Amino acid sequence: MGEEALSIDANTFQFFSRNPRGGSVRAFDPEDADALLALTRAHRFAPLLAHAPYTLNPCAAAERTLDFAHRALCEDLQRLEALPGVLYNLHPGSHVGQGAIMGVEKIADSLNQAMFDGMHTTVLLETMVGKGSEIGGTFEELRAILDRIERPDRIGVCLDTCHVHDAGYDIVHDLDGVLTRFDRIIGLDRLHAVHINDSKNPLGSRKDRHEKIGQGHIGLEAFARIVNHPALRDLPFYLETPNDLNGYRDEIRLLRELCQS
Ligand code: FE
Ligand code: FE
Ligand code: ZN
Repeated sequence: MGEEALSIDANTFQFFSRNPRGGSVRAFDPEDADALLALTRAHRFAPLLAHAPYTLNPCAAAERTLDFAHRALCEDLQRLEALPGVLYNLHPGSHVGQGAIMGVEKIADSLNQAMFDGMHTTVLLETMVGKGSEIGGTFEELRAILDRIERPDRIGVCLDTCHVHDAGYDIVHDLDGVLTRFDRIIGLDRLHAVHINDSKNPLGSRKDRHEKIGQGHIGLEAFARIVNHPALRDLPFYLETPNDLNGYRDEIRLLRELCQS
């Protein structure tokens, strides 16, 4: 994974902690961790970002789904100790009719059970579009989870540009306003990473369909402001656009061109 990142001139990357749509644990082999760690240090990578599987729902109603979430969270956080300093991003979950308050409490409970003293990973809650009963479509919901976490120094937020846009935060015309609001409600010190994606759909659509950079409703001008914004410019950015490896190489080059040094 590290060599592939280097081959497209990346200086960090995101990977799945395990099969994204199932639960199997093959995707991350701890035996490769030492080699990867050495590579990331030699090439001064920004922190790697491990993404939890989409099927992980720590506020599910069904006992089986909830059990999987508990087990996967615990296992992932234990195994990621092989990569000290890694970030671990998760979709907070969907409350599936139990209500947002119950959802927030269950998510915090799951995380509190899985997190442990002395851990080296920072867990990030991803900003979501808020479709269906998805938690995390508002900054207030993320704040409510953060408030309940017993190890506040090991938790933060990952801002997904497509998601906040689709959730109705106008980062195209009012990036400053959105980030001011983020700061007031969550605190910019809690922001550790950015998923940089364009969106196939208009502001507030609650759709969550990523588009290539500059080809969607966010657009290149807005991305120029995003990568240069003082609150964001020093954070690691991770692409989740619909691309092959060459496409990612081109987008990395494009985004670097937008950066004013
Ligand atoms: Fe995600
Ligand atoms: Fe994302
Ligand atoms: Zn998404």
